[in-house]
Order: sequence, then C-alpha cells, then structure tokens
Amino acid sequence: MKNSSPAVVRTRMAPSPTGEMHVGSMAMLLKNYAWAKKNHGQFVLRIEDTDKVREIAGAVKEIQQVIRDYGLDWDEGPEKGGPHAPYIQSQRLETYREHAEKLVELDKAYYCFCTKERLEQIKAEQKNNKQPPKYDKHCRNLSREEALTRKNAGEACVIRLKVPENQPVIVNDLLRGEIKIDSSEVDDQVLMKSDGYPTYHLGVVVDDHLMNITHILRGEEWISSAPKHVLLYEAFGWEKPVFAHIPVFLNPDGKGKMSKRKGTVSARSFLEKGYLPEAMLNFFMILGWAREDQREIMNLAEYIQEFDPSEVSLKSVVFDLQKLNWLNGVYIRQLSIDELERRLEPFLPKDFPREKSTAILPLVMERLVTLADVEELTEFFYRPIKLDLQLLLKKADALLVSNQLMAVIKKLTDGSWSVTEIEKQLRTLQAEHDWHKGQFFMMLRLTVTGKKATPPLFETMAVLGKDLVSERLNDALSAINDL
Ligand code: GLU
Repeated sequence: MKNSSPAVVRTRMAPSPTGEMHVGSMAMLLKNYAWAKKNHGQFVLRIEDTDKVREIAGAVKEIQQVIRDYGLDWDEGPEKGGPHAPYIQSQRLETYREHAEKLVELDKAYYCFCTKERLEQIKAEQKNNKQPPKYDKHCRNLSREEALTRKNAGEACVIRLKVPENQPVIVNDLLRGEIKIDSSEVDDQVLMKSDGYPTYHLGVVVDDHLMNITHILRGEEWISSAPKHVLLYEAFGWEKPVFAHIPVFLNPDGKGKMSKRKGTVSARSFLEKGYLPEAMLNFFMILGWAREDQREIMNLAEYIQEFDPSEVSLKSVVFDLQKLNWLNGVYIRQLSIDELERRLEPFLPKDFPREKSTAILPLVMERLVTLADVEELTEFFYRPIKLDLQLLLKKADALLVSNQLMAVIKKLTDGSWSVTEIEKQLRTLQAEHDWHKGQFFMMLRLTVTGKKATPPLFETMAVLGKDLVSERLNDALSAINDL
C-alpha cells in the first residue's frame, strides 16, 4: 500500500454531488488544475458520492459539464478513466471496506454497535453538561471475539478509528506551517457506516493515497477535518500529501462566507448571468494572489506558469463583483464580432434581427457588462420604443422641439443614408439654427431610440434605417402636436 510514484505532482478535486458546484469550488479546482499542469503532473477528478441521502439526481453529470463549460478538464476521472479507476466513490465500496477491516486487524480501529438512541442520549447528556459532542468510546474495549461474534450474528455496526490517546497530532499546512493539537480533542470518528458506505474521512484518505495525490489544495472549511486525516494516514502508515487550506470567498459585501442568502453562488449561475468563462477564471486567478507587477489580466497558460500555492494569501477574499464586471467587459471587448455573436446566442431574444448582427453588435459591444445585457442594449433596434414626452420636453418647449423635428425629417429624407451623410446634415442643421448642441442631439437620441444613453447617435441612426428613423420622428411630432 505504499505510494508508488511520489515524484509526480498529482492534484485532485473531489466534489460531492449534493448540489450544484459552488463558484468557490471552481476557483479551488483551477488552483489544483494549474499546480498539476505547472509541474507536468496530472489533475484528477473524483466524485465523492458517499452521502446517498443528500445526493441530487443529475449532479454528477452537471459537475462534469460545468467544469468543461469553464474551459477546464481533468486528466483522470469519470468518463475518462485512468490507472486508478473507478473515480466515483460509490463504485469503490469494496476498497473502503477492505481498508477499514485492515485497520481493525491492526487494532487501529474497532467495531461499534451503539444504537442511534444510545448515541443521541450521550449527545444530549454532553450538551447538558456543556461538553463538546464526542463518542464515549463505549465499544472501544470490546474483545475481538465478542465484537466478531456480534457482527457475524448480524448485529448492525460501524467501524470507528481508535484515536491514540494523549498524543500530539500535527497537521502541516503549506500556508500556516505546523498546526498542533492533542489527540484527545479528536473523536473516535466513524470510518465505515452501517450501510456499507465509508464516511468522507475514510473515503478521502484512502482515495488520495491510492490515487497517489501529492498536493491537496482545498477550502479552509476542511481544516478541522485535517487532524482526522493525519491520524488516518498515520494509522495506515502512509506518507501524507501536502495540505494547503485556502481561504474561501466572502460575500460581495464583505460580510460572511459567500452564501446563497446573498445571491446565487453556483459556478453555473455566473455563466447564465452572462459572464465569460475566461473572465471568471481570470477573476479566480487574481483573488487572493497578486503578481509582483500587479498586472491583473492573465490567461490560463500564464497562470499555470506563475501560480504557486505557497503564495496564496491567508487573508479572506471578498468576491468583488465590480472587479468581475470590469474583467468581463475587458474579455468581451477582446472577442471578434463573430465570436461575440456565438457567445451571445443563448442571450439573444427571439426577435433579434440576426441579419443585422454585424451592424448592431459592434455598436453595443463597448457597453456590455455581461452578455445578458444584450437585450436591453439593443431592443430599440427591433422593438417599438416608448417615447418619454416629459423627458423630451424637459429642456425645450414643444414648439421648438416640433420645429427641430420637422427640420430634421425634411433634411434627412432628402439626403442619402450613411453615417457620414447623416452626421453632416445634422451638424449643419444644428449650426444653421444655432440650436443648443447638447439639447438638440439629446432630443434626437430620445426620439429615435427612446433612451438617454445609446451607442453613438449617427451610427445608430444609420443601422436603424431611414424608414424607421422617419417613422419615429413623425410619431414624436404627432405626439407633441396632440398635446
Ligand atoms: N467531498 C469533499 C467536498 O465535497 C471534498 C473535500 C476535500 O477536498 O477533501 O468538497
């Protein structure tokens, strides 16, 4: 059972299919992935589905899909297989049983027959006495014969770790150094449940060992499990991997661990909100880790070159939405129009005029924060607009606006229809009458788009087309005349 190839760096992500993958888990996955790639090692995906009660149908497939949708992949794992297959824990039950039995044989673990009622009773008593909940080791000293007789007679039992008494347990954390606790603080934890499934602790240690995992980069929330894992490695006599417990994200408002109560947290939901996977990855890269030169834009290949888990900051990291929005904009503007159109596909409303994509999209590209903004930014090109007369007349009186509108209609219907021509005509008109520049062009913008903020006016008018522009100008004119 010795680790056979410790020299190769092997990392893993071991999600449980109890829900959608958290955005923080995707960030953690990226770190494990990058560290393996940097060292020309392998990144393993393992599904930890030992909690059948909390498992969600379809989650195993979705975890794989969302990893791929983020542009990442695994070297070994479900669907791909590998030298340590299977990579789904529920298909490895026999391995865990063998290992747990082995520990019993070595007198490092024992059978426990305590009923649920008994365990609940001790828990309640401990609570009353303000003691931490812990197993009272009732079955720890059963003789081997008695335990086997009861087990063979079919009595339900679990296997518990026989935690050595009064001995220091040392967790070596890459970011924190040595963390030392006394073994008396560690519970005689269950390793094998009565339903034949291992607990997380047994499954994770056995698999990380058998799969030759050398580095475990995982969320800080697992740090309290680390002493249990260390004790297990020691009970088996196995070499320990490198552990790095990495701070988890805080909510965008900086308060508390990023949670569902303050907005969506699944990795998938960010793609659905119109964030580009490459912007998400870049965002994960710079949260909690800065390059010497502070440059924030980096691609996966650069990150793989530069990432070093020992440089990860221990400070909590706020999930800074403003930064994410900025990054997303940067990545959107790097796309070609064809690529932008392809990415926008799930966000384009049915009535979006596809034949005009190449004319419309360059005009709004600059203003897209997420892909999901496309409908709001483009709808005036293909849907009736709602004219805000109050706003239109706010700065000038009805007569002046009517005059201006009439003059524009006349000018434009006579002229030819191109950006330069439209611009020339309108600027001349404004200068001739000495109309207030800002007011005049705002009046025009509101009239033809219904909005105060739009892409550049002349380009927009050119794309809208002569007919639609005349129609909207005429509509505004009659609305004012009807006042
Ligand atoms: N199955 C655990 C999870 O759901 C894995 C924790 C670990 O990385 O050890 O996150």
